[in-house]
Amino acid sequence: KQMIQVNEVLERTLGLRLYDFKVRNIQLVMTLDSQLPPTHADFFQLQVVFLNIINNAEHAMGENVGDKILTVSSRLMMDGKVIEVEITDNGSGIPDEMKNRIFDPFVTTKEVGKGTGLGLSVSYGIVQEHQGQILVESNLDKGTAFKVRLPIMQSEA
Ligand code: ADP
Ligand code: MG
Repeated sequence: KQMIQVNEVLERTLGLRLYDFKVRNIQLVMTLDSQLPPTHADFFQLQVVFLNIINNAEHAMGENVGDKILTVSSRLMMDGKVIEVEITDNGSGIPDEMKNRIFDPFVTTKEVGKGTGLGLSVSYGIVQEHQGQILVESNLDKGTAFKVRLPIMQSEA
């Protein structure tokens, strides 16, 4: 872990997907708070978390009849003590009976060979390791929002 800028992690992660967004006609709407303070975190591991969430979002929007819109935002909350990153898609949504299982290992609704069911469980572990929280809100008509909340750290807690 080192002092990093979460916005930089997001920009770098999204940069890796821009070509894919273009090919798949995914509109990216980014609203990053430029005032975010740096925090003590593992750049690479946070990149894994954001990539997993983004890849799932892309998959969920794959069957969209209309526009595919991915929004990524960052903000400060809890009196400036916590950074919140929100990633939303307007894809298939997550059925209620799945919502409390998606963070379990090997839970996948993807066809054999397409998903390991490990992305979100690994992401959950990484966020835990950062003393953070990962939350999901989803609606079958509207899509899904993942929130990753990371307390601002000056050094190893
Ligand atoms: P995998 O992607 O290999 O299936 P994950 O742990 O990344 O494993 O995700 C588990 C499951 O959670 C997915 O198979 C899917 O059913 C559901 N899921 C995750 N993100 C989304 C999303 N943005 N929209 C709809 N379903 C989702
Ligand atoms: Mg996945």
